[in-house]
Amino acid sequence: MNILIIYTYPNHQSFNDAILKVVQQNLSKDHNVNTLDLYEEQFDPILRFDDTHKRRDLSTVPDMEKYRNLITWADHIVFIYPIWWSGMPAMLKGFINRVFTAGFAYSYGKRGLIGHLQGKSAWIITTHNTPAFLTPFIQDYGKVLKNQVLKSCGIKPVTHTQLAGTENSSDEKRRRFLDKIANIAGSI
Ligand code: FAD
Repeated sequence: MNILIIYTYPNHQSFNDAILKVVQQNLSKDHNVNTLDLYEEQFDPILRFDDTHKRRDLSTVPDMEKYRNLITWADHIVFIYPIWWSGMPAMLKGFINRVFTAGFAYSYGKRGLIGHLQGKSAWIITTHNTPAFLTPFIQDYGKVLKNQVLKSCGIKPVTHTQLAGTENSSDEKRRRFLDKIANIAGSI
């Protein structure tokens, strides 16, 4: 299986980086794995359209072709990111805006969006500080990427692993979380 890991974190000295390494180390060697590190890539997350850059042409913008090709190549996409202000980092939001475009990732049908990315699945891994029992009652915390973005584009199943209390939990708890990630990655 072709697996694309999309890592969105400003550096490699973080708990998110520990998650990335655990995923990379535990995926079966039978898979083809590509890691897209949006900060390292210096991805430009700003979506622009104007008189010379038409909105209807977004799905064929040459700068984004590399990323469209990676999404097309992938059978399974793993997202790793921290929750910032209840949602995904602006860098990842910009990536979604610029790459998951109408005509490429979906089109408009009579009864809503038609997803073009059927046959792919995804795994979202997020970290945050809010206690776990509160997040079902708060908007987003990964739910937008799962339900509004990926599922709308035809990607399913989408699973979501959340680590609550990343900064204020014990080392032991964080170790258990990494073990859980290792087990899931190993089972893909
Ligand atoms: P780090 O800060 O890198 O590490 C967390 C802890 O894990 C540290 O104690 C570190 O020493 C330890 N650690 C590092 N590596 C390992 C390892 N290999 N094994 C074991 N332990 C390790 N949180 C919310 O709940 N809701 C919000 O809306 C929200 N908004 C935010 C907005 C902004 C702009 C920012 C910066 C933070 C926000 N946060 C929010 C908190 C954010 O979600 C957490 O800071 C983040 O998820 C922690 O992940 P990290 O990779 O940055 O952890």
